[in-house]
Amino acid sequence: MKILVINCGSSSLKYQLFDMNGEKVLAKGLVERIGIEGSRIKHTKTGLEAVTEETPIPDHKAGIKLVLEALLDKKHGVLSSLSELNAVGHRVVHAGEKFATSVKLDTKVMDALKECIPLAPLHNPANIMGIEAVSEALPKVPQVGVFDTAFHQTMPNTAFIYALPYGYYEKYGVRRYGFHGTSHYYVAHRAAEILGRPVEKLKIVTCHLGNGSSITAVDGGKSVDTSMGFTPLAGVPMGTRCGDIDPALVGFIAETEKLSFEDVDFLLNKKSGMLGLSGVSSDLRDIEEAAERGEPRSKLALQALAYGIKKYIGAYAAAMGGIDAVVFTAGIGENSVAVRAAACEGLEFMGIELDNARNAIRSKEAVVSTDSAKVKILVIPTDEELVIARDTKRLVG
Ligand code: ADP
Repeated sequence: MKILVINCGSSSLKYQLFDMNGEKVLAKGLVERIGIEGSRIKHTKTGLEAVTEETPIPDHKAGIKLVLEALLDKKHGVLSSLSELNAVGHRVVHAGEKFATSVKLDTKVMDALKECIPLAPLHNPANIMGIEAVSEALPKVPQVGVFDTAFHQTMPNTAFIYALPYGYYEKYGVRRYGFHGTSHYYVAHRAAEILGRPVEKLKIVTCHLGNGSSITAVDGGKSVDTSMGFTPLAGVPMGTRCGDIDPALVGFIAETEKLSFEDVDFLLNKKSGMLGLSGVSSDLRDIEEAAERGEPRSKLALQALAYGIKKYIGAYAAAMGGIDAVVFTAGIGENSVAVRAAACEGLEFMGIELDNARNAIRSKEAVVSTDSAKVKILVIPTDEELVIARDTKRLVG
């Protein structure tokens, strides 16, 4: 069974083609700068060098057409005919309270996703465009939606409700939703496999630390709390997003800086976080380098990030009434030896003990806690595409 996985952003489109017989990635690629100058497709057939073609790509429909052409290419393609394609799985950011699991896409589901646009005005329209472009190009091929929010639908109302007038929840769906659900699901289940214990018996804190970061309490395989909220702005400091702040600051900054609401929103989403603190970059590698050179603001940014992660680990251990494992994943979680070490430092009192020699690894699965540690610490590269491919297979198979 061959499954194409698509992750559509507003101006980009990532894809991977899986052969589910052995769960092998046959090809993958990225379409960038859709609708803007310099648009291109970078395609890699597994085992060959990547090829890049710069060509006008006015919209997602044109992007999907190029992807299908690349998959059929004589040299770099992996399909001899599109009829070999059994299904397409899409990453969709927001399904509100409508879907707690992945679903096969039909017009009813599409209407529900359109209703969720106000909850994710930047992401859902791009995801929907991708689905519609595939429907047009491959009208007979079944499609599945896999939602970032779905895994967190098991949160109890005590964890998801905000202490605002209750009517806002009822009228507008104002509540914590959480994101990166596919990644948290994958690493929590993988951690259980690596530890050789049933996920149902484990209390795990999963730390997805990338450009956007979120931390989740996974109790018995289910999300019971997560650091992102109504939007992906909440939680620990991120590349350019502020994470948790006092909400009164929105009004304070608007008034003192004479900014509009839109300006403040932009500032909190694009100018804050690690970029705002360090003044250097949103990229953790640049900040680590600057901190090594002795830049005080970069050092502070790293400390603030580690402190934020540490507080969530403590809070979620309290929320679950215990903790068996901490998992680090995504760009920073998989690669930053220093952030992992700083986040775990001082948590020995609760059984979290990092082994510094084991922790000196990047981008591979490993248990990095000491042998005697009560709480296991794991590094697990995330694989959201594989989860999407598996769910798609399950739903169409
Ligand atoms: P996204 O949320 O865009 O998917 P990623 O998961 O790719 O982001 O994570 C990007 C972050 O990971 C960046 O801040 C980047 O600096 C960081 N990162 C990637 N490689 C390393 C590394 N070797 N050391 C430290 N940080 C890294």
